Amino acid sequence: MSRVYNFSAGPAVMPEEVLQEAAAEMMDYKGSGMSVMEISHRSALFQGIIDEAEKDLRDLMQIPDNYKVLFIQGGGHQQFAMVPMNLFQNKVADYIITGQWAKKAWKEAQMFGEAKAVASSEDKTFSYIPDCSNLDIDENADYVYICLNNTIYGTVFHELPNTKGKPLVADISSCFLSEPLDVSKFGILWGGVQKNVGPAGMAIAIVREDLIREDVLPQTPTMLKYDTYAKSGSLHNTPPVYTIYMCGKVFKWLKKQGGLEVMKKRNEEKAAVLYDFLDSSKLFKGTVEKKDRSLMNVPFVTGDKELDALFIKEATEAGFVNLKGHRSVGGMRASIYNAMPIEGVKKLVEFMKAFEERHPVN
Ligand SMILES: *Cc1c(COP(=O)(O)O)cnc(C)c1O
Repeated sequence: MSRVYNFSAGPAVMPEEVLQEAAAEMMDYKGSGMSVMEISHRSALFQGIIDEAEKDLRDLMQIPDNYKVLFIQGGGHQQFAMVPMNLFQNKVADYIITGQWAKKAWKEAQMFGEAKAVASSEDKTFSYIPDCSNLDIDENADYVYICLNNTIYGTVFHELPNTKGKPLVADISSCFLSEPLDVSKFGILWGGVQKNVGPAGMAIAIVREDLIREDVLPQTPTMLKYDTYAKSGSLHNTPPVYTIYMCGKVFKWLKKQGGLEVMKKRNEEKAAVLYDFLDSSKLFKGTVEKKDRSLMNVPFVTGDKELDALFIKEATEAGFVNLKGHRSVGGMRASIYNAMPIEGVKKLVEFMKAFEERHPVN
């Protein structure tokens, strides 16, 4: 078996232990004689899987009792629509535009009401987080929306915006479970799971109960109402059984590692290996403002497109894969999620140093 170091932004690296466990259980889950892919979503076996997954997630994130945990098929883009469809009462919302994912969410919300951009960092290719301490929040805003960690650009909110009392909705797809978060500061936290949790195809939404309503926008489809998932324990129809099972295994793995405080420490150490090198290198440069750097996604460039391409090619051949940056930024991006071991980052930096020696900057 030969594994690579996978720096993909998503679908992304999974913990090897989790993959091995799933492989061992593939043909016969807990003596049932069936794979988890073959069991009924109405079976006691699956009820055990989803109940434990929810319980472990609640433990890890210390989710207060007045928040529901919802497993929703459809991934990230579907949440761009579900948020306004479920929260619009006055049909006004304020969006903070810190990258393409926030922008897409904002555009989607415009289909359903008045979604306004109250801050943006597009003037500098989203390379920083704007000051959000005193924004022009609409008094009728049903919510304020952010993308907490910007997967493409590699920035993160170290400080939450002042929403002036309005519920804060955050897309946490690419920083899900990377460090502790105070859930009580948010109205909704949602994340697509394929970045830092499990296989693609699902989002997990953590929604404060008072924001789960029956009287959502007229003609909202049943499967797009948070209420449907809340009332049925995410079992209104056949859920993504295998994805929920894999996420559950990752939650157990995170608990075994020591929880989110430990992950935060590890992620800080890991990111520092790469950032310290970028700060000392003459060839490679980070692309975002230092104060807003993400622990999860690290974009960098050489400043020369041909050299970037050569680096990506040679890195791939050496077993460091998926380092190509998003097409809107160019260059490289190393996504170093929870499941990326620190050795992977250290070896990448060694490779970068050797590359720099072969291509010295005069
Ligand atoms: C990947 C990503 C999305 C989109 O997720 P899909 O499941 O592909 O729709 C949304 N937001 C963020 C922050 C992401 O990283």
